[in-house]
Amino acid sequence: MLADSHYYFHKAADILELSDKVRDILVTPFRTVKVEIVIEDDQGALRHFLGYRVQHNKSRGPMKGGLRYHPAVDEDHATALANLMTWKTAVVDIPFGGAKGGINCDPSQLSERELHAVTQRFVEQIKEVIGPTLDIPAPDINTNAKVMGWIMDEYSKFNGFSPGVVTGKPLDLFGSPGREEATGRGVMYTLDEALKDQGKSFADVTVAVQGFGNVGSNAARLIAEQGARIVAVADHTGGVSKDDGLDVAALTAWVKANGGVAGFSDAEAFEGSEIATWNADVLIPAALDGVLTKDNAGDVKASIVVEGANGPTTPEAAEIFHDRGIVVVPDILANAGGVTVSYFEWVQNIQQFRWEEDRITAELEKVMRRAYAAVRSVAHERKVDLRTAAFVLAIQRVGRAALARWHALDEVSF
Ligand code: NAD
Repeated sequence: MLADSHYYFHKAADILELSDKVRDILVTPFRTVKVEIVIEDDQGALRHFLGYRVQHNKSRGPMKGGLRYHPAVDEDHATALANLMTWKTAVVDIPFGGAKGGINCDPSQLSERELHAVTQRFVEQIKEVIGPTLDIPAPDINTNAKVMGWIMDEYSKFNGFSPGVVTGKPLDLFGSPGREEATGRGVMYTLDEALKDQGKSFADVTVAVQGFGNVGSNAARLIAEQGARIVAVADHTGGVSKDDGLDVAALTAWVKANGGVAGFSDAEAFEGSEIATWNADVLIPAALDGVLTKDNAGDVKASIVVEGANGPTTPEAAEIFHDRGIVVVPDILANAGGVTVSYFEWVQNIQQFRWEEDRITAELEKVMRRAYAAVRSVAHERKVDLRTAAFVLAIQRVGRAALARWHALDEVSF
């Protein structure tokens, strides 16, 4: 994954004619922390895990990014995702840098007490390098509002009341209304902009969605509300389709009760892996990374791909899409709604002031549409695709902020 994110970075860096030295400075993390976490399990035995926090770049503000609890968490993965966070926060122009981290554990194998202990030990180990003005974690795969509440509690033991140390907290603990659906809402706004570029509207299109978790289900609901037909959805349990459009509310209730889309009665079943090449105008990958590859990109039917997930398209697939004229709204733009509302949460926390949900939705819409317009404008000016344009814009914003902090660096301009 690190190779993929660096591929896109270097493509944009070529356009900006950056030297090898400047590229190296920009991709190297500011700080990488690796810690051992030892807990006593429910049987009284010792268990140990490794925790990571990669802080990539802080030129534009405190670093921001999720914490993932998953056996595959390692330094390489966290570094790739930390890089992406730097570019993502710059594309939507919020005052943050990028970070990412996690613990190499499988939460499904841990009791809630064990998970709490793992989280407490992790915070104890990294408390000196996180904080409301340093680095602000958020939920990611297998972490949620509850875990964020535990992090706030543990950090506050050492630093006093500090709701601004994490975002994605429970509403009762100074979380923000609108955070839950924010990424899906951002996907909806960016799709709207992409449709406008093609002279279309939601009512004209059919949509296929991979993943029906936080991002996929909220994106499907909001896009259907705008008048598009969601004709196919796939998740880890399989796929369901309906040509007239799936009833997204009924499917959401089904998934909540049954753990996945498989078995939903008001639809046809299909093999989940077929979703990538489904006969729909729009494809929204909102599950895993690396799902659109050289093996299936040639058969994708959609004319617009909106990347709800992080890193769903491999560089080979991106080239195939470009050659086929398929528009890809890249992850660092399309799924930035989540970090944007996290920013609103942090703003409310440090001001000790609550915004109404209407205000959050209105501000999110402004940020997402403005970011899309900025990326579109670079794409037109440089005659490149949206992903390359997003990286060019992000590198310029980060580079200019860094230059404004450094002393006498005439050798480079952004
Ligand atoms: P989630 O855990 O809520 O949902 C994940 C979904 O993916 C589930 O529906 C699951 O069934 C599905 N899935 C898992 N394995 C699959 C498979 N093999 N085939 C098809 N579907 C499969 O996660 P989420 O928060 O919705 O995140 C999804 C993606 O979006 C991730 O890449 C994440 O990094 C990215 N993302 C999330 C947010 C956010 O705010 N939640 C923000 C930005 C990016």
